[in-house]
Amino acid sequence: MYYTKDTILFLNGKFIKAVDAHTDLYSQTLHYGFGAFEGIRAYQTMNGTKIFKAHEHFERLRKSCALVGITFQYETEELIQIAYQLLRKNNLSDSYIRPLVYCGANMTLTQPQDVYLMMCAWEWDKYHGDKPLKLCISSYQRPNPNSLKMEAKVTGHYVNNILATSEAKVRGYDDALMLDLNGYIGEAPGANFFMEKDGVLYTPTLGHILPGITRQTVLNICRELDIPVVERNIKPEELESADSAFLTGTAAEIAGIESIDAKPLQKEWQDSLGVTVQEAYKCQVLEKSFSYVII
Ligand code: PMP
Repeated sequence: MYYTKDTILFLNGKFIKAVDAHTDLYSQTLHYGFGAFEGIRAYQTMNGTKIFKAHEHFERLRKSCALVGITFQYETEELIQIAYQLLRKNNLSDSYIRPLVYCGANMTLTQPQDVYLMMCAWEWDKYHGDKPLKLCISSYQRPNPNSLKMEAKVTGHYVNNILATSEAKVRGYDDALMLDLNGYIGEAPGANFFMEKDGVLYTPTLGHILPGITRQTVLNICRELDIPVVERNIKPEELESADSAFLTGTAAEIAGIESIDAKPLQKEWQDSLGVTVQEAYKCQVLEKSFSYVII
């Protein structure tokens, strides 16, 4: 699914075939989850293939590395150029781009000496499909912000997210919604959360969640469309009277939620503010004008 015998990836300064790429089994990233990555989408837009929010994603990659002390030399502009070359070499347009900064052989718990960059891409359809999602409140909490760098997209952090998703699937749900350690709504394992109530959108404040680039895009869209948004702590009990809710993420895009813990939200997804945001988001990634969005 991710690569074939012809797929090209970028590895430490060179474009090579994915099947010829090797890594060190003594890598600190493999053993201890000490690495950083990004998830980026490219779209076939009105103006050709465009990487959505390329600058923001590669800036976050560099920031993730800096936050945990991984020395990473690439400039943002250089990374954007590599990503576009990668798409061209693989003849990709609508696709998902995955840069990974990983460390060399190091069995100790000290800062790595050797740091490497791999970047690959593949065609990826909707992460969640078209149907509004059935979520459950996870038994797995978001990590304590005093134990990790919450703003960093670090490989090892994702054990928490895999546990939450796996549990949700075993319980028969599409995905999970994780609470923070104070019991407020945090985020889904790979996406941020928004809730609609009485014409206002609410989303959890930063601190216990990954500051999503799509979350920020939605905040900007709402400012343009005059949809009021409040960033604040959300109690799980509030979900019972919420009108609607949705997830935001590069992979998930804007994904409507049908029910949480089998309790349906008040409005049909089609009648929610989320649909307007979803439409506007689609216009933005495809570089179409917002003009036909009706609110
Ligand atoms: N939270 C988590 C835990 C994620 O992995 C992601 C996906 N990167 C998001 C939120 C959404 O972030 P973004 O909108 O930047 O893709």
